[in-house]
Amino acid sequence: MVKGLERYTQINQGEAVAKFQIAKRIEAEKVEGLEELLKVHSKLKKDFKKILLEGDLDILKVEPKSYSFLHLKRDLLKEMLKECKFCERRCGVNRYETTGFCKCSSKSYYSSEFLHLGEEPELVPSHTIFFNRCTFACVFCQNYDIVYSDDMPVNPEELGMLIDIRYRQGSRNVNFVGGNPDQHAHTIAEILLNVRSNIPVVWNSNMYHSEELAEIIEDFVDVWLGDFKYGNNSCALRYSKAPRYMEVVKRNFLRAKENGDLLIRHLVMPNHLQCCTKKVIDWVAENLGEGVRFNLMFQYRPMFKANEYPEISRMLKTEEMKLAYEIASRKLSNLV
Ligand code: SF4
Repeated sequence: MVKGLERYTQINQGEAVAKFQIAKRIEAEKVEGLEELLKVHSKLKKDFKKILLEGDLDILKVEPKSYSFLHLKRDLLKEMLKECKFCERRCGVNRYETTGFCKCSSKSYYSSEFLHLGEEPELVPSHTIFFNRCTFACVFCQNYDIVYSDDMPVNPEELGMLIDIRYRQGSRNVNFVGGNPDQHAHTIAEILLNVRSNIPVVWNSNMYHSEELAEIIEDFVDVWLGDFKYGNNSCALRYSKAPRYMEVVKRNFLRAKENGDLLIRHLVMPNHLQCCTKKVIDWVAENLGEGVRFNLMFQYRPMFKANEYPEISRMLKTEEMKLAYEIASRKLSNLV
């Protein structure tokens, strides 16, 4: 069993229930309007936590409710789209009429879905669903072809069925990624309503979501697969146009640790060992524990607009990789 991913492993082994399957089995009252939806949500959250803690597998024998806690979450997320604050950009736009920073309307698009064999060993084969668009604007974006287009419209019923098919083909989890999944949270809740398998949900994210979003999605996310990109605010602003980065991601990582399994990724960047890699590792070791699962990644490529930033317009040097590994292995014991 991988340390830090105990519940995930239990779901894989049929010894625990994926959160969204529990949420589907808690009956909810249908109400309208943001305030009422939030009221019912906060009441049912207590019931949900109790069932989650009890860990009774028999809940899977109960038929999903025709209107459940997960339906309520979907409706709440759809209501929140009218003044979108899904992420800390907090655009406040009505996504039924216009778009904000991420350029997403209320409709979600995705680029591909497949069984990914290149993720962390404990995740593969991982059923990755690559959504379009992102709440960041990284100048070195490694997936810019996905991020800056709208490829195929999501049909939640079809994707839900596909998740079940991929599960039968051997997937160990469904991995919502992009871009970033946050801006599609309402669509993902709808997709999960159509999934029958007891499969862990992985949220592959830049961890820039708002607290309002965390409050809702944390009851259907089993594993937070979070990027910790930068160790200070000025690098985050320069390369990803992300204000208040440190305050937001620290808050979200601490909350994620309390609400699911956690796997952290850090992409080492050229010339950013002291200001980013070291700072990230020090904070993680001190605040999330030296045993947290941590993937130190060396696959940086100077893609997209990276050539406009001379300090990051090259591949990593061998000495940089060695130094990053040395820093990480001194402080952290559970490296991928
Ligand atoms: S998801 Fe974030 S970037 Fe997109 S509209 Fe909402 S607040 Fe803005």
